[in-house]
Amino acid sequence: MSETAAAGRPYPADAPASQELFDRARALVPGGVNSPVRAFAAVGGTPRFMVRGAGPWLYDADGRRYVDFVNSWGPLLHGHAHPEVVAAVQAAAAAGTSFGTPTAGEVALAAEIVDRTPVDRVRLVSSGTEATMSAIRLARGCTGRTRIVKFAGCYHGHVDALLAAAGSGVATLGLPDTPGVTGAAAAETVVLPYNDLAAVAEAFAAHGETIAAVITEAAPGNMGVVAPAAGFNEGLARIAHAHGALLVVDEVMTGFRVARGGWSEREPVDADLWTFGKVMGGGLPAAAFGGRAELMDRLAPAGPVYQAGTLSGNPVACAAGLATLRLADAACYATLDRLAAHVGGRVAEELARAGVPHRISTAGNMFSVFFTEEPVTDYAGARRQRADAYAAFFHAMLARGVYLPPSAFEAWFVSTALAAPGALDVLDAALPHAARAAAEVCA
Ligand SMILES: *Cc1c(COP(=O)(O)O)cnc(C)c1O
Repeated sequence: MSETAAAGRPYPADAPASQELFDRARALVPGGVNSPVRAFAAVGGTPRFMVRGAGPWLYDADGRRYVDFVNSWGPLLHGHAHPEVVAAVQAAAAAGTSFGTPTAGEVALAAEIVDRTPVDRVRLVSSGTEATMSAIRLARGCTGRTRIVKFAGCYHGHVDALLAAAGSGVATLGLPDTPGVTGAAAAETVVLPYNDLAAVAEAFAAHGETIAAVITEAAPGNMGVVAPAAGFNEGLARIAHAHGALLVVDEVMTGFRVARGGWSEREPVDADLWTFGKVMGGGLPAAAFGGRAELMDRLAPAGPVYQAGTLSGNPVACAAGLATLRLADAACYATLDRLAAHVGGRVAEELARAGVPHRISTAGNMFSVFFTEEPVTDYAGARRQRADAYAAFFHAMLARGVYLPPSAFEAWFVSTALAAPGALDVLDAALPHAARAAAEVCA
């Protein structure tokens, strides 16, 4: 079937094996998925159940092959089943999967993170959600204050206090608010428009002495990719600090992806706490939060702010993360940057040729394609795009063996494996068809 894809002819639209699995899943799991965006609600159709990944390729239960631009939503810098990552996982698993004690692997992963980023102490957890939740608790514990400022369209995991105007999954499903988050939790969250420092200054003028922290995505990727305006992140640090509040920079998506040291290497900002996830687990569950020693040492058992986890710093996850980071050298980032620029450029070229209004919005090697002519600087702007055109584009690509994020409000992620022979040929063959499908919707 790879030849079919390479020739740019569509796969048959039906996916009986995936459909059967999805039907069974829906009887067992809410909506048939364990994370909402996987369900294809934003683009329609049947989510493909994947059975295997190798390098740039994904293989589904229907026997089709796709070139992957999702890469597990970011973690897989080196593509699927990289031999060195697999070997590290196998060796760690064979030596015992979990001990509930400290291990040397945790120390090695912590050292790697501290070496690459501005943090000098780090605590390992199992998901990005846990990282932001714990960072918020620490910020409240250190300041003795309650309120959190976040930005519309920024997603920080499904933490109660941070699930207000949270972009991506929430945006896609059109849930303005989620039942189950209490009014009290929501009332402690101030939601502001992204890239709007005047709104931040105003919020601090009104509530300054009650704000524990501002949390922001280092460069947002959860409303689609929207880069921070020049000086925005630094302005957040300045305003927060002037009022005795902390700045939490969420690098769960950008960390170790856009550069060796994450977005903070590209744009150093005087933040207080950072959160990490995705890439640092190499495709296994691992995440972290960190900062200056004097803040981090307020955590138990060094200090009074409680935080814990049975599987935190899991040896298999640490081995996968460490192997992934050790492969992530300067050459890796140069390759990712080159591939992202190439792919974004090709998409823009074909959309322009087909007369489709579009913007390629980039932050380092993360990018997304907004189906609008207007520049997108915030969530309101992202929502003005033609999501219906994206759905048509997505399905035309999927049918020709290209796996894109199943929502217009997500980043595309490249891996170094896309440099493998044939991978980008599949993209090239599919693009003209997908651009025409989008043009029909926009006409
Ligand atoms: C993915 C993501 C999270 C949540 O991480 P999970 O591991 O899915 O809980 C938090 N913040 C940002 C910026 C993310 O992209």
